[in-house]
Amino acid sequence: MKKIVLVMIIISLLITVSCSTRNSETDNTNKTPYPIIEKIGFSSDTEVKKGNYVAPGETFTIRALIVLKEKDGSISTVEDDDISIEIINSADYLSLKENIITVKEDVTSGVIISLKATYESHSETLSYFIKKNPDNHIDSDGIVTDYEQTDCLVNKERSLPQDYVPDDLVHIEVPSVLTNLEVNQLRKSASDALTDLFEEARTAGYTLKARSGYRSYSTQKSLFNNSVARNGLEHAKKYSAPPGHSEHQTGLAMDITSESVNNQLYDSFGATPEGIWVAENAHLFGFIIRYPEGKEDITGYEYEPWHLRYLGIELATDIYKTGLTMEEYFRENPSIQ
Ligand SMILES: [Zn+2]
Repeated sequence: MKKIVLVMIIISLLITVSCSTRNSETDNTNKTPYPIIEKIGFSSDTEVKKGNYVAPGETFTIRALIVLKEKDGSISTVEDDDISIEIINSADYLSLKENIITVKEDVTSGVIISLKATYESHSETLSYFIKKNPDNHIDSDGIVTDYEQTDCLVNKERSLPQDYVPDDLVHIEVPSVLTNLEVNQLRKSASDALTDLFEEARTAGYTLKARSGYRSYSTQKSLFNNSVARNGLEHAKKYSAPPGHSEHQTGLAMDITSESVNNQLYDSFGATPEGIWVAENAHLFGFIIRYPEGKEDITGYEYEPWHLRYLGIELATDIYKTGLTMEEYFRENPSIQ
């Protein structure tokens, strides 16, 4: 203990000496009192997060630092209790208590949470992008537990509950090919986004048509069984989903087409001007091409340039930028969970 006290005294003496030296130097030159505050920085117990991704339910510490710059350009950092950290515009999504951040469990991927550290006249903002770890949202039977969330991952390994029907289905407001009432529905957010997408396409000179949106578990069951009866199980599995495993049951997927492919679902749609425009712009409205070409082994589906999945603008854009499928994107989860 005595040793520690002694060391501290020596350190404080050194600081005093170095400060006085520094002050006398600066007084003689341009009166800048070095060190100067360069900026406010952040540090975290889990590195300051690769890609700044964090998962719902995750807890980590965050500290703000004052970054100092010496006259010779060298940089050092100090912690200071007077730096305040506050949550900005995202209080619904996380809590902050004594430098410990807890992201709430029900936050969906694509939400951006931001923190602001302030010290005297300096401030710095740090943002995190929420990215779910799908392994935390599935039960032991392979049934997803986050089926109501827009970022829910449904595929051949992950199914929806048999009785799940979204409670906000609406009739779509864009031209469609089929008259069947059920498939002309989407969840409200996806329907609104589809309207915007189709409008923007029209402005750009392309006419799109909706073909098949929401499908109930029982509709998917008959589709799949018909496909098996017609083409055999192997073929059916490639092109169709077993009941519970179709994204169409989420109410967030829509198959689209155009007259250039006779309003059908052909993979040649991807090479039409409409298909190319959709592939390049869908993310701006919150959609991704869910089953891209060359990713059949990962998604479990053949190329489907017509199948759009709604994820919200932030998440769809982030996935689009990475060029990954939903499966790959969520697997590349750097979170600690
Ligand atoms: Zn589809």
